[in-house]
Amino acid sequence: MKNKKRISLIILILLLIGLGIWWSVQKEVEEEKGIINDVSRLNPTHITAIIKNQEVQGIQQAVEEARKNNLKVSIAGKRHSMGGHAFYKEALVLDMTAFNKTINVDPKRKIVTVQSGATWGDVIEAINPHTLAIGVMQAYNSFTVGGSLSVNVHESDPHFGPVVETVESFRLLLVNGTIVNVSRTENPELFSLVIGGYGLFGVILDVDLRLTENAIYKKQEQIIDYKEYYRVFKNLKEDENIRVIFARLSIARDETLLKEVIVTTYENTQQTDQQQLELAHAQSGKLKKWLFGLSRSYDWGKKLRWYLQKKYSDKFEPEIISRNNLMNNDIGFLDYYSATDTDVLQEYFVPVEQLAAFTDKLREIVEKNNLNLLSATIRYIPKNDETVLSYATKESYGVVLYFNIGMSEEEQEDVQRWTREITAEALAHNGTYYLPYKLYASQEQIRKAYPHLDQFFEKKQQYDPQELFMNKFYATYAKQE
Ligand SMILES: Cc1cc2nc3c(=O)[nH]c(=O)nc-3n(C[C@H](O)[C@H](O)[C@H](O)COP(=O)(O)OP(=O)(O)OC[C@H]3O[C@@H](n4cnc5c(N)ncnc54)[C@H](O)[C@@H]3O)c2cc1C
Repeated sequence: MKNKKRISLIILILLLIGLGIWWSVQKEVEEEKGIINDVSRLNPTHITAIIKNQEVQGIQQAVEEARKNNLKVSIAGKRHSMGGHAFYKEALVLDMTAFNKTINVDPKRKIVTVQSGATWGDVIEAINPHTLAIGVMQAYNSFTVGGSLSVNVHESDPHFGPVVETVESFRLLLVNGTIVNVSRTENPELFSLVIGGYGLFGVILDVDLRLTENAIYKKQEQIIDYKEYYRVFKNLKEDENIRVIFARLSIARDETLLKEVIVTTYENTQQTDQQQLELAHAQSGKLKKWLFGLSRSYDWGKKLRWYLQKKYSDKFEPEIISRNNLMNNDIGFLDYYSATDTDVLQEYFVPVEQLAAFTDKLREIVEKNNLNLLSATIRYIPKNDETVLSYATKESYGVVLYFNIGMSEEEQEDVQRWTREITAEALAHNGTYYLPYKLYASQEQIRKAYPHLDQFFEKKQQYDPQELFMNKFYATYAKQE
């Protein structure tokens, strides 16, 4: 019996490895045919070429060539935005991932200067020896700095807002081929347009980022009701020593659905154990991937995952961990391939006091449409309106949802329908939604969610009248293509 189980497990693992290899080969074959896509696999687009360059001069030349040949230019990082934000039909795609050097670490000023194609993982490696850490990045290390600035990311340290807060300055390659310094005092208008500006104003070259201290954290966990979250969070946030707060809502299809919350906090221990501060190898996450797969396919898998998360969280994440090791998370466990379905992310922001009311409406939509919800987490975003396309004009919670969805035309129409329903609820609760995901929102909804959108598009016309820098996001909402 034991042997039978072992053999089934080995077959399952081999199958998964086989699928993984097949998927990466497929990806290369597609790219050779001139078709590009993003991680959602929902946006196959024919392009003219992908250009990968390590030098500023090469990037400058590529932009110049495109301009002369009347080609559009799209800028791509790791292509984890899910709405074709990093490409456009027949465009020349600048793949920035080879432009990834750390230029300088200044421990005194706590500033790192890094090229925009570097991933957060690259930056963490460069700054860890200086006991420094990143202030704001996603929950995973594989995104590029340029891609992160261009969507203005946010995460789980309650003492920071969106990443713009940590940007000192950057160099921007403009449409006319010149390079300008951009900061809050030099070209301030471009500062507010480019950050969260989806690559529409030029190529971000290198960036000066403000850092924070690396430190050793101790994890604590509590399980609460979602209606309590506002009060619990408020108390936790007031504690300067609490540096990271993760909140996961139940996805189990039972009475806990979107009600029970595991709140995980990481508190600075003030310890300085050198061994703990060293960078550990990122864990393979095989068990996590397997469990995640079960929850994608079965309701009992969702229940099991939730039960294990509550009971045995120490088996998945260590109790004592440095900030850098906590942030240096590999996204690989989310890799998934199926010809018929895919996983997508969405995020809705609501003013902090509206969280419970919005969650009630969300639960209704999830249940009514029998949605395959794989994860639901809550993030905190303090008010920040430094960027034109700010999603944090009020102090808000972000509700981040990961769904498995069908890819057929019919199924996509349905996803659009219920996504618009959730978006309408976020808007009705004085909230908004996050732009880097699939472009399901209507023209009306995006304008309600982002009242400065048309002003942003007018500025685009002013800085780039020939619309050299293009992507599917701009084509959809500015040109209504
Ligand atoms: C599994 C998953 C988890 C996520 N978690 C979070 C999270 O915790 N918090 C959060 O805020 N977001 C999160 N996101 C969203 C993610 O932060 C964005 O999609 C981000 O843009 C991804 O970075 P990238 O390198 O893949 O950028 P890409 O998707 O390649 O590009 C994004 C945009 O940036 C532009 N761009 C890229 N590089 C440059 C450059 N050098 N100059 C000018 N423009 C450029 C592109 O043109 C495009 O418009 C998550 C996404 C996924 C898929």
